Amino acid sequence: MAKKRVYELAKDLGMSNKELVDWLVAHDYDEVKSHSSSLEDGQAQAVTEKVLAERKPKAAPPPPATPGFVVRRRVIAPPVAAPAQQAEPAVDASSSAPAAETHPAQAGGEAQTAAATQEFSASAALQATPEPSPGSVAPAAGASPVPSPSALQPTPAPSPNTQRPTATQAVVISRPLIPVRRVTPPSSSHRQIPLAPGPKVIGEVKEFRVVSDALGRGREFIDVSKDKAGKKRGGGRVSDKASLSKNDLMELARERSMIPIRGKKKRPTKKGKKTEITTPRASKRVIKIDESISVGDLAKGLGIKASDLIRKLMANGTMATLNQQLDIDTAQLLATEYQYEVQKVGFDVTEYIDEDAEEAAEDLQPRPPVVTVMGHVDHGKTSLLDAIRKTEVAAGEAGGITQHIGAYQVNTAKGPITFLDTPGHEAFTAMRARGAQATDLVVLVVAADDGVMPQTVEAINHAKAAEVPILVAINKIDKPEADLQRVKNALMQYSLVDESLGGDTIMVPVSAKTGQGVDQLLEMIALQAEVLELTANPDKPANGVIIEAKLDKGRGPVATVLIQEGTLRPGDALVTGSHYGKIRVVTNERGERLEAVTPGQPAEILGLSGVPTAGDDFNVVDDEKTAKEIAEHRELKQRQVDLSKSAKSTLQDLFAQHAKSGQKEIKLIIKGDVQGSVEAVAEALKKLATPKVAVDVIHHAVGGITESDVMLAVASHGLIVGFNSKAEAKAAEVASQEGVDIRTYSIIYEAVDDIKLAMEGLLEPTLRERVIGKAEVRNLFTVPKLGTIAGVAVLDGKIARNASVRILRGEKPVFSGKVGSLRRFKDDVREVVSPLEAGIGIENFTDFKPGDLIEAFEVEAIRQSL
Ligand code: GDP
Repeated sequence: MAKKRVYELAKDLGMSNKELVDWLVAHDYDEVKSHSSSLEDGQAQAVTEKVLAERKPKAAPPPPATPGFVVRRRVIAPPVAAPAQQAEPAVDASSSAPAAETHPAQAGGEAQTAAATQEFSASAALQATPEPSPGSVAPAAGASPVPSPSALQPTPAPSPNTQRPTATQAVVISRPLIPVRRVTPPSSSHRQIPLAPGPKVIGEVKEFRVVSDALGRGREFIDVSKDKAGKKRGGGRVSDKASLSKNDLMELARERSMIPIRGKKKRPTKKGKKTEITTPRASKRVIKIDESISVGDLAKGLGIKASDLIRKLMANGTMATLNQQLDIDTAQLLATEYQYEVQKVGFDVTEYIDEDAEEAAEDLQPRPPVVTVMGHVDHGKTSLLDAIRKTEVAAGEAGGITQHIGAYQVNTAKGPITFLDTPGHEAFTAMRARGAQATDLVVLVVAADDGVMPQTVEAINHAKAAEVPILVAINKIDKPEADLQRVKNALMQYSLVDESLGGDTIMVPVSAKTGQGVDQLLEMIALQAEVLELTANPDKPANGVIIEAKLDKGRGPVATVLIQEGTLRPGDALVTGSHYGKIRVVTNERGERLEAVTPGQPAEILGLSGVPTAGDDFNVVDDEKTAKEIAEHRELKQRQVDLSKSAKSTLQDLFAQHAKSGQKEIKLIIKGDVQGSVEAVAEALKKLATPKVAVDVIHHAVGGITESDVMLAVASHGLIVGFNSKAEAKAAEVASQEGVDIRTYSIIYEAVDDIKLAMEGLLEPTLRERVIGKAEVRNLFTVPKLGTIAGVAVLDGKIARNASVRILRGEKPVFSGKVGSLRRFKDDVREVVSPLEAGIGIENFTDFKPGDLIEAFEVEAIRQSL
């Protein structure tokens, strides 16, 4: 059957790839992972119909003639209302539980009720006067009752000059079904504006503003997006701006035409705005942001002092700093007060880079294996790599060794092998921590005279954590004190069992000094690679990973790359991290120019805008302009991340990840003062494993917590446990940068209790339904624009505005959904208790019959125990 790629369908539907992917995911098309996923023809048809059907209501006529203009302010549930256990991890996991997304109102518990109360009073307080006609339901009732955590706290008594909405100013902000995010009560008494979920990016504010002195002399126009705080332009007139009132500015600007600042290149989309812009009319007073904007930038965009904006936020109950990020809704709310509009200009890198494209089997071709050499210091890694390279030279390859480029290829009878010449597990793990899985195979070098040493064990654990097969090279067999058997026996403890002993690990005795066994080692690598059946599609724009990079005085930034897919050619436009460029020269390790580099092959490239980071991915894109745009976007994003110093692998985050993947496992790295205690802690913690949660001790060793441990934790999303062992200064620094959780203990039971709690946190809470009330439908009446409302008598308990309901006819459930409106006489009410009567509207349901039972229920999240 014909298939349709998601991006094709998105095009047909006039949606962005991301919108459609999100839509599909939200509608349980589980197989859809990206815009390059495909849908069966029938599916595509069904999706098209659904999407179009969903659009219809949007095309419906604009708000009624007697509008209830409502300024809806989302509110933060006050910390006091949050259930006590919210600080506990289990609840955190629940925030990403699917149930919470589908029934946002159900899982919120008390906090939500409280929030809803506030929202209720807030809307009541702010509602502009037109009373809805009798019998009708307040227009706000149909909107999502879910308060966003990213919202402003309303001032209980709105000050008349700022908050009284008029028909022209009024704004309705509502966002469809936002998953309930439980907000852990802030530890300080200050309420902060929570950040928007996902990456936060300071967007560009692409509005020109007029700046001049009070007499209108020396006018200048600045692009506020590039205007850094304190950085003066045009002879310091920028700061003058602050002293001008908004009206002054508007007045001045109206009189003058706008000219752009010299040399400020605008993005092509802004064509028309380059010249001749007078003060933006209301419709043009737009601030474009991408996900979020800092208080400082927003103030600049609005042409007001940041302190004024901060004061305004404070008046709304939010303590904010200059660098605090405001989400779109909050920014919109503030901007509206200054007659500005906020527009979201998301930049979707996936539109340009096909990260996880599915490859058709027929496009795949074999590629060489990529090998990393690891092992204890002085066991001969460097010597072995040299020896391997020498076999190549001796075999008559032209040119000899000219330079070290961090990776090279060796030809064997069984085909080429690529070695990453970055010995040591730091490079390996650092790369993996950055998300690059560059290595197919690890060659573990163990000196036959020295045997298994701490870094040997570390290397084994790093390779295992990366799920990369290990091949052992037992080196220095030329030495008289070499003891092959001892090494093999020692390795057995780490589940590396030689084939000769009935295991499945290949172990090759070698001597890097004499070259003995090196050929055999290469052959074994090639053999192992065959088993792995490594393939890639060479027939597309290249992508891969940066192996190493440096700044060369003469040649500029030089990077060694490994191609993982596609083919790289000189002239290609490439982007890696926040660097980009048109590739001028591509060479191999002997300095020979290459015209094409295929998967599994390394190369050195020139032409990048800066020195990239080892371990970063690179992608070839259509043209240099695109590469530049992506790079700039990433830089903005990075700046944002640096600002917010987000913690990546804190426990909470681990839970979130696990909750998502459905996998229940906790990964631990244990360091301790003496072997005995490390073993004891490891054993005690392993014993915590239950059928629900596995405990995986991925590494344990004696000693301080090192940077390498931290990198292993980053790469494996693990947690570091130190027992009478502290983090080295550098390790602590990296851990805080990367957000790795390091927990130190000196009493074993404390470690056990704490990790047990952490494990419990991994378990998603079970959801329990609790019926809160029942009502019987007595009669029906129709309300214009709202359809059918049921007149009910509450028989039992209560019916609440934010409750979920089920409609039972006889014994049979005929519908379940949410209360849309709840009224007593003409008043909207929050709940109606037995034995009172009420009018109930149910969202998306009108087919009531007298005698139907309406059962209201709440869903409680119940924390599971191990
Ligand atoms: P690395 O720290 O693992 O990279 O180890 P090196 O390659 O620097 O080797 C450490 C020392 O061991 C050097 O002095 C080497 O000359 C020596 N060495 C390496 N391989 C062999 C070998 O196969 N036999 C002997 N006798 N010495 C070796």
